[in-house]
Amino acid sequence: MRYRDFHRESVANPDDFWRREAGRIHWQTPFDQVLDRSNPPFARWFCGGRTNLCFNAVDRHLPARAHQNALVYVSTETGIERRYTYADLHAEVNRMAAVMRSLGVKRGQRVLIYLPMIPEAVFAVLACARLGAIHSVVFGGFAAPSLAARIDDAKPVLLVSADAGARGGKVIDYTPLVDEAMARAEYAPPKVLLIDRQLAPERLNAPYLVDYEPLREQHYDVQVPCEWLESNEPSYILYTSGTTGKPKGVQRDVGGYAVALAASMEYIFEGRAGDTLFTASDIGWVVGHSYIIYAPLLAGMTTVMYEGTPVRPDGGIWWRLVEQHRINLMFTAPTAIRVLKKQDPALLRSADLSSLRTLFLAGEPLDEPTAEWISAALGKPVVDNYWQTETGWPMLAIQRGVEPLPQKLGSPGVPCYGYDLVLRNEHTGEPCAQGEKGVITLSYPLPPGCMQTVWGDDARFVKTYWESVPGQPVYSTFDWGVQDSDGYVTILGRTDDVINVAGHRLGTREIEEAISSHAAVAEVAVVGVNDAVKGQAALAFVVLRDAGGAASPADAQTLAASLAATVDRQLGAIGRPARVHFVPMLPKTRSGKLLRRAIAALAEGRDPGDLPTIEDASALQSIREAVSAGDS
Ligand code: ATP
Ligand code: MG
Repeated sequence: MRYRDFHRESVANPDDFWRREAGRIHWQTPFDQVLDRSNPPFARWFCGGRTNLCFNAVDRHLPARAHQNALVYVSTETGIERRYTYADLHAEVNRMAAVMRSLGVKRGQRVLIYLPMIPEAVFAVLACARLGAIHSVVFGGFAAPSLAARIDDAKPVLLVSADAGARGGKVIDYTPLVDEAMARAEYAPPKVLLIDRQLAPERLNAPYLVDYEPLREQHYDVQVPCEWLESNEPSYILYTSGTTGKPKGVQRDVGGYAVALAASMEYIFEGRAGDTLFTASDIGWVVGHSYIIYAPLLAGMTTVMYEGTPVRPDGGIWWRLVEQHRINLMFTAPTAIRVLKKQDPALLRSADLSSLRTLFLAGEPLDEPTAEWISAALGKPVVDNYWQTETGWPMLAIQRGVEPLPQKLGSPGVPCYGYDLVLRNEHTGEPCAQGEKGVITLSYPLPPGCMQTVWGDDARFVKTYWESVPGQPVYSTFDWGVQDSDGYVTILGRTDDVINVAGHRLGTREIEEAISSHAAVAEVAVVGVNDAVKGQAALAFVVLRDAGGAASPADAQTLAASLAATVDRQLGAIGRPARVHFVPMLPKTRSGKLLRRAIAALAEGRDPGDLPTIEDASALQSIREAVSAGDS
């Protein structure tokens, strides 16, 4: 099948297209309408159909795959490795569901899951799906205020947590965080179900703490039937990363999500039943929801869940996992590959990677040097894919399962089937000409699997996402890009990262891409600051590959000049940053995204505000120091 025809049919005739795809999952009651467009911008998929995500991910595979591994768990933090067949997974999910039910969890109620990367997190998610309860997973790295804010928004009847997480060999005691969040939250749930990993001291004295283990024993053989949900009932709430502001509670449905993920496994990921997928992300992010938990299980695959960093015990650990578990597909973020790039290449070469077919990368721009390095090192296709928490599955990618179009460096590829993706002029809302920069938008209706609404706030959903492009009732991604004559889109940054230098609109990503092509550069962030003459000026914050590279002011000056020359060559002098600052590290979110707004605030001497999602707050200090040193 040719990609072009496939895509055209999917947007021209979504009813027929998705009716066919819906056959990938089990419907307890068939749907009577593929798509209800009576209330735009809301779209309802597979109306009247009844199904269950847990049934499709687990129970349905029992006849053929009871003894196949469903979940392989590896923790380099605790040294624990466990394998669960589909039969084991079924048993554990039933136990967890029985325990939740005994604590009063019912269909439609929320359960907040605040857990590290342990198998029980998967059990808890699937147990909610089984009961028809709505899960909201909160990334385990968040501190108490972020947790409390999400509790108050989701109003859960139960919180599931653990005694501790672990990262880089350090134990992070969760119970004080949970206590603080429970005290701060207005809607603190009556009970906290605690998974005791025995990493932190036993402490069950708080009245709301309930120990999971004895309850699991009590419910060891209990079977909990799947609740058959109408396709459009909510399955979960997941808050966005909060890179650009207050996180939004993305609400997802049941049937549309199941169909979309099952289809993506074939058309985008080329995953087949029996394959093994290792998604190195966190269950707290959308990549974890879709491609650690749901999609591989819906497709009858084995999913590998990993707790640890890519460099401990050494930078070869992920490649050894590929060899040991005969991993076929791998999915992670560019930031992880940049970390691995700094490791000894022998670590990669010494592993047997013959089982691996493809590496998928998403979450932030994949810069060309990193893409080139990893493709050459692996000798396998590397597939960049662009999407958001809101969409649940890729919007842009080379869809190898449809047609293996060539990759173009710097672009995640072409619009995925189902998405009527149009670049639009941000002032007029009109479609852009080829090569003209614009906002990446999606026309109504969004395909199955995308957000239904903002949890509890339909008005915010409409206003935020559908009323941002002038004169056009289209969904805004708030990303900025450019499309070439073959349909390939390059992401140029977020719309609020677009800067205006002397009347020219530049995406910060373009300047970053030019700077990062310089051999001395490990990472770079470009932000716009107010400039009396030009309106805005670009500032670059550069992390060097060799930390001593700009040790003396003279070295720094030479290097800055050489970076400016690189930008001149690739973008022209208009893109040349007004100043280059060398810093030891850049502030990022816990999911590895650059916090450009915070950097811009610091560069303008403003307060960056609350940054609950920041990975390492000391990075802010290095920006502050660089700016004030540059000003003196
Ligand atoms: P918030 O919306 O709360 O500010 P966020 O946008 O960082 O948070 P996510 O939904 O996790 O939360 O991230 C999606 C964003 O990540 C996209 O809108 C885009 O800006 C960026 N992104 C994702 N994949 C890619 C990619 N392959 N290339 C470039 N950018 C990407
Ligand atoms: Mg976003």
